[in-house]
Amino acid sequence: MRRGVAGLNEPLIGLRNGRPRLETPALILDADAFEANLQALTGMARTAGLGLRPHAKSHKCAEIARRQLDAGALGIACAKVGELLALFEAGINPLMLTAPVASRLKIDRLTEAAQRGAVLTVVVDRPDLIADYADSAREAGVSLDVLVECDVGQRRTGVATPEGVVALARQVADESSLRFVGVQGYAGFVQHIFDHEARRTENRLAMGRLLAIVEALDAAGLSPAIVTGGGTGSHLLDFEDKVLTEVQAGSYVFMDEDYRRVDLHGTGADVFGTALFLTVTVIAHNIRGEAIIDAGSKSFAVDGPAPRAYLDGREFGSIAFVGDEFGRLDTLPGKPVPSIGTRLECSVPHCDPTVNLHDFLHVVRADKLEDIWPIEARGLSD
Ligand code: PLP
Ligand code: MN
Repeated sequence: MRRGVAGLNEPLIGLRNGRPRLETPALILDADAFEANLQALTGMARTAGLGLRPHAKSHKCAEIARRQLDAGALGIACAKVGELLALFEAGINPLMLTAPVASRLKIDRLTEAAQRGAVLTVVVDRPDLIADYADSAREAGVSLDVLVECDVGQRRTGVATPEGVVALARQVADESSLRFVGVQGYAGFVQHIFDHEARRTENRLAMGRLLAIVEALDAAGLSPAIVTGGGTGSHLLDFEDKVLTEVQAGSYVFMDEDYRRVDLHGTGADVFGTALFLTVTVIAHNIRGEAIIDAGSKSFAVDGPAPRAYLDGREFGSIAFVGDEFGRLDTLPGKPVPSIGTRLECSVPHCDPTVNLHDFLHVVRADKLEDIWPIEARGLSD
């Protein structure tokens, strides 16, 4: 039998009992938890008076981006050109590329998209990249919004000194095909610090560096309209500090075992619910009597704490990876070994690279399979 456009599970769409019948491994999105996460961050941003530019590196999915825009997001952030173009082709706009590139072909693909209506913001951290964006935009007859990428302690991309940022901002402003719109300062190293106070201290340091840059730009007559950065880990601190004008949180829509360890508001309580799970099936009992499931490192990204396995909504054990196609269920004390054919729903170690392994998100509410959404930008890391 041929696979339908939405995979083996397409005939289950709309069925009230579709969720427990999913062919597995199937990545599922709990619609209630997802919508609550969307509402929660939107509400906090509104109260703080800051914007949201959710990062699509986490979901790579146009339907999710559309819902973020419907909830009032200023636009969608993308990590890679391929990711951005796939979302543009699926109707998402405006789009921000949050990493510098080193390829004229990629730049030309972006300015071609701009010719077709993409409203793009890009980041730069060196003079030749500004010149390449300017040339490509001029040749394409379009104009690009440009941010100067600042290193606020991440040691990845960006310029660290206020003078260096001002010089690049001036170069951008002098190009007729580019508009200098502001700066990006993403403190990735802050996001996963478990303790709230320790995370607050590090975020203050990072945002202090960014503030010095903003003040230098103000003094140079190049005031940034956009100061973008931040993520799920720092969102509350960013809303408090108000150095950023907008927050690029990504993982908050799904959550994962890695982020569940982070005390996001310093209260010990979960701020966002887990909305992303992988449904798996027990396919064997090994010679020690343990349950073996049909998913390993080709279905879960393994760079995080072990997935928790749930049976009928109750935590039942955790998953140990025993191959690229197999996992072992380690049951909680007192729980029986589930029989062959039993479906378990598992949290994921790290959401972003896990989603990148799948073609579809199965959207569930209670036991109903409401829809199947394609993950348009999966695999597109170019
Ligand atoms: N912004 C940038 C530039 C990022 O690289 C990332 C994630 O790595 C994010 C935002 C989103 O972070 P999170 O998934 O922690 O919310
Ligand atoms: Mn991540």
